[in-house]
Amino acid sequence: MKTVNFFEQKLLNKYDTSGPRYTSYPTALEFSDNFSNDELIRAGQSSSTKELSLYLHIPFCHSLCYYCGCNKIVTRHTAKADIYLDNLEKEILSRAQTFGTRSIRQLHLGGGTPSFLSHAQLSRLIANLRNNFSFAKDIEMSIEVDPREIELELADHLASIGFNRLSIGVQDTNQKVQKAINRPQSTEFIQSLIKRAKLVGFTSVNIDLIYGLPHQTKETFSQTLDDVINKLNADRISLFSYAHMPKVFAAQRKIRDEWMPSTDDKFALMKLAIETLSANGYEFIGMDHFAKPTDELAKAQQNAELHRNFQGYTTKGDCDLLGLGVSAISSVDDVYSQNVKTLKDYYQQIDNQGHAVVKGRRLSQDDKIRRLVINQLMCNLYLDKKSVEQEFKINFEQYFADDIRSLSPFINDGLLKNTAENINVSPRARLLIRNICMSFDAYLKNHLNQQRFSRVI
Ligand code: SF4
Repeated sequence: MKTVNFFEQKLLNKYDTSGPRYTSYPTALEFSDNFSNDELIRAGQSSSTKELSLYLHIPFCHSLCYYCGCNKIVTRHTAKADIYLDNLEKEILSRAQTFGTRSIRQLHLGGGTPSFLSHAQLSRLIANLRNNFSFAKDIEMSIEVDPREIELELADHLASIGFNRLSIGVQDTNQKVQKAINRPQSTEFIQSLIKRAKLVGFTSVNIDLIYGLPHQTKETFSQTLDDVINKLNADRISLFSYAHMPKVFAAQRKIRDEWMPSTDDKFALMKLAIETLSANGYEFIGMDHFAKPTDELAKAQQNAELHRNFQGYTTKGDCDLLGLGVSAISSVDDVYSQNVKTLKDYYQQIDNQGHAVVKGRRLSQDDKIRRLVINQLMCNLYLDKKSVEQEFKINFEQYFADDIRSLSPFINDGLLKNTAENINVSPRARLLIRNICMSFDAYLKNHLNQQRFSRVI
């Protein structure tokens, strides 16, 4: 891994474009209002999968990070979370009628900021879930925490109610960068939090980093990486690219254009991060994650068992995913569905109907075939054509004749090999895997304005 050159400038320039991140196929842009809650229920009843992942969205944050493009509500009033939990519990009760007997193998609290919830609110939520769902003995329970506004004792409390995985938004440890994004935080506190979490039984700690933030330079980001590797010693690292779009996200208007690294500098930051993490024992997972070789995510990649869902890379892709809370997305059998995006609509719809589904999509046979192909390539850089043929009773070469033709530039550039049995993507093309998957996307031609997607590099 360390010797692979991911950064051949000529190739990266050639394939520099915007494209989906493929946390789902079809992407959320294809969800339609012409979708009903009954379709989600029917999918839940007919799914052959007996296991379930739960995602709960907690939309509140104590303060606004200026880079943020998430669906969140910034407030100091923690009592607002009580009203939210009242409604969330109604949704849980209603979903338990369909999914309550499934074995829950994975539970993830995301946001917003799940650590906005008080100890009592967290206990209340988990107790409610345990009353309504059946938790597997080896359940993975993970939570995103904002290292500001919390005490070390949070780790003890989370462990006592069953959490065993922690994800911490660090982004950058440099104070000037933190000030510019309105996210001042202490690296020493994060270090103590991780130590405490490991002590009380957490088995994995993930850290989020962002490159391309204001005032970041190779020197400052090098120090951030050094902090993450040597002080924080995280098991997993998610490395995200900051997309500066002040016209779309009002908060980003607080970040002045002249503070931003140039495109070349941003690319250098990404390169620095990938090279530094790889040289320090982390395996490059998918296109934006890193994990220690002993971590389950790295093992899943080694065994070609990695999956991708709305939260990114996962080892539990064989489970249906049920999303609960405002804006949450579900992926159940051959259906995707999404809840309403505003709190007002969420409360109203839960009150009136007991659910908050607003749109979704039932996958066609073609969607399902392409979903498998794209998922395999995104996760494992490899596709076994025979397995697709057997599962869907198709002739791969005939079915994908046009798509395979569009792979020619990648083949000519030595970025993949297409044989009668498989498609094998070169490790050199890891950063271009979205481009390769775009060849199999039947909807892209409908999105001539690809600026709706993020840049591939
Ligand atoms: S980055 Fe996270 S903590 Fe900051 S405003 Fe956005 S959702 Fe909230």
